[in-house]
Amino acid sequence: MLPNLDMDDILRLKKPHPCGGTTWKVTRLGADIGLECMTCKHRVMLTRREVKNRLKKNLGKGADGQIFS
Ligand SMILES: [Zn+2]
Repeated sequence: MLPNLDMDDILRLKKPHPCGGTTWKVTRLGADIGLECMTCKHRVMLTRREVKNRLKKNLGKGADGQIFS
């Protein structure tokens, strides 16, 4: 079962980014998933399978208080 993702969802991943951040924003949905680190703004592309394996929790929208609209 692959994760059900939406644009601008905030994801918490199991393994922290080298910057120390563990929350990522979904910036692109397609065959690959684009994620932006909420802490350092670094962007990565992961396959859906990689996201599934790394995902700890989908925090949904507005977790940082600014994205909710
Ligand atoms: Zn980072």
